[in-house]
Amino acid sequence: MVACKHIKKILMHEEARGNKIKEMSEGWSKANLVIDMEESLDIDYANSLIALGEKLRYWENNDTHYTLQKGYYCDECKQSIAGPK
Ligand SMILES: [Zn+2]
Repeated sequence: MVACKHIKKILMHEEARGNKIKEMSEGWSKANLVIDMEESLDIDYANSLIALGEKLRYWENNDTHYTLQKGYYCDECKQSIAGPK
């Protein structure tokens, strides 16, 4: 599965600044595709996309049972991209 056009904008921006995909996984209950990045996401860039009307939703994980992450979720395509907090 490839990243949807919404998530892909963030992915391309991250790869352009040297961030790399750590892991891609599919078939989660709330997400068809989850992309984990090695470094934290550029929140300013993603927020600028949202300000322009991109339908991405910010989320962060504060449950210490899991890796602490922050990222974005596409409601339309049920895909997510995240990096360490
Ligand atoms: Zn999408």
